Amino acid sequence: QENVQEKIDYVFKVVVIGDSAVGKTQILSRFTKNDFCFDSKSTIGVEFQTRTVTIKDKVIKAQIWDTAGHSLFSHIHIQTLFGSIAWWIVNSIEICRYRAVTSAYYRGALGAMLVYDITKRPTFDHVARWVEELRAHADNSIVIMLIGNKADLVDLRAVPTEDAVEFAEDQGLFFSETSALSGDNVDGAFFRLLEEIYGVIC
Ligand code: GDP
Repeated sequence: QENVQEKIDYVFKVVVIGDSAVGKTQILSRFTKNDFCFDSKSTIGVEFQTRTVTIKDKVIKAQIWDTAGHSLFSHIHIQTLFGSIAWWIVNSIEICRYRAVTSAYYRGALGAMLVYDITKRPTFDHVARWVEELRAHADNSIVIMLIGNKADLVDLRAVPTEDAVEFAEDQGLFFSETSALSGDNVDGAFFRLLEEIYGVIC
């Protein structure tokens, strides 16, 4: 009698980070559900999805975390409404919440997908800051894959591939351009990342 329950050899936690609206949620749903949803809502809080894959004869459950781009300081304008003491209290609570969420998010992560939008130059310019955040909060051995998403929007390209290749080489990151819309390279990028993680830890 065959065992119907899948035997998992490893669970790899991967975080998806990058500026808001670059396509993090869509990349994740493309990889885990092979789906693209046009009216995707802004991600609230932290959540993860999983997909089980086989790499080098091992069954690996990829547990992929997605978050709301750390936009936790959004109500700073409360200052003008309630005065500075109330603002100070709210702000302190927010900073604590930010730290708690950030450390839970990166804890135990073996890989990171750092996503920018090839049609929005600022999202690429911010990549260096995201790398800093990873170096500050995640494990040193974390494998980072830089992703230039929305590669289907060829006419709107604002970030040349060579710029990203150069940055990735400089920082020791892997790199791929993807389209969550068409599905191009999404599986490839995740498999590459998971194989590299496998190489690091096994
Ligand atoms: P997030 O805030 O980084 O999670 O971004 P979302 O996944 O919510 O995507 C933001 C917007 O970009 C949505 O309107 C998506 O439909 C769109 N989008 C995401 N990926 C792609 C892509 O590969 N190509 C195109 N053309 N649009 C995309």
